[in-house]
Amino acid sequence: RQVAEQQRALEEHARSLEKAVQERTRELIAANAAKDEFLSMASHELKTPLSSLKGMTQLLRRKLERAGSSDVIRLVSMENSIRRMELLVNDLLNISFIEMGMFVLHKQPTDINELCRRLVDEYIVGTNPPPVVEVDLPAEKIEMAIDVDRFGQVIINLLSNARKYSSAPIRLSVRVEDEQCIISVSDDGVGIPPEVLPHIFERFYRVPGIEVQRGSSIGLGLGLYISNQIVERHGGRIDVQSTPGKGSVFSVVLPLKVASPVEDSTQVSQP
Ligand code: ADP
Repeated sequence: RQVAEQQRALEEHARSLEKAVQERTRELIAANAAKDEFLSMASHELKTPLSSLKGMTQLLRRKLERAGSSDVIRLVSMENSIRRMELLVNDLLNISFIEMGMFVLHKQPTDINELCRRLVDEYIVGTNPPPVVEVDLPAEKIEMAIDVDRFGQVIINLLSNARKYSSAPIRLSVRVEDEQCIISVSDDGVGIPPEVLPHIFERFYRVPGIEVQRGSSIGLGLGLYISNQIVERHGGRIDVQSTPGKGSVFSVVLPLKVASPVEDSTQVSQP
């Protein structure tokens, strides 16, 4: 009888534990949803004042330029700060979209060489001081169905990381190999220690103790996570080769077949 009683007590204990776990899970799910909602609302709310601030600064800069004022330099640095803030807010907005399963791709047939050339030009013009980017594109035309804005975000993120962690010229190259299109961004910067390499695509991960170049923002450790999500949703992956003290190569690898416009040029909603 004693054994039976002990068994009953154990079963009772197990039931109450199960109930507590279920309750805690419900609480965590609710807290997570509230966090996502907050993140999304906060980043939306931050976006509006930021764009009006951006507009006003541009206007003021043009006025000062016309007047030949030396204060223009201050406005330029203000614009840079606003641009960095905008990138951070965009990252937060993206992350909340990913978390809430609202990440949507609008794919369209795109000339990859043309896109890369345009992105590099835009990146150089929009960065102060303008970085040196060497571009190596193949002679052949590569057309793939991709979401131009999202994909552009990936390339710009890799370029700005390369600049953040290196003072030398950055290289962007495109090549086709084994039915894959490979877009590589390389730098001769600080590199990444092998033991932390598996973590760099995690949300909010930053390699401890790494300094960024002057004029770059520290970042939230979201860029590579978001880039990886975007590339994976295009059916590809991002490979990294890095040697501490020597530099890094980030390669976006896209299968030509999966991304071909014939097979997949429609709008793709992600779960
Ligand atoms: P962050 O906003 O901090 O740059 P990312 O997600 O883009 O976030 O990158 C995560 C971390 O990976 C960075 O904090 C940095 O430590 C490391 N990293 C990314 N790109 C490079 C690079 N080109 N060279 C050296 N370290 C890099």
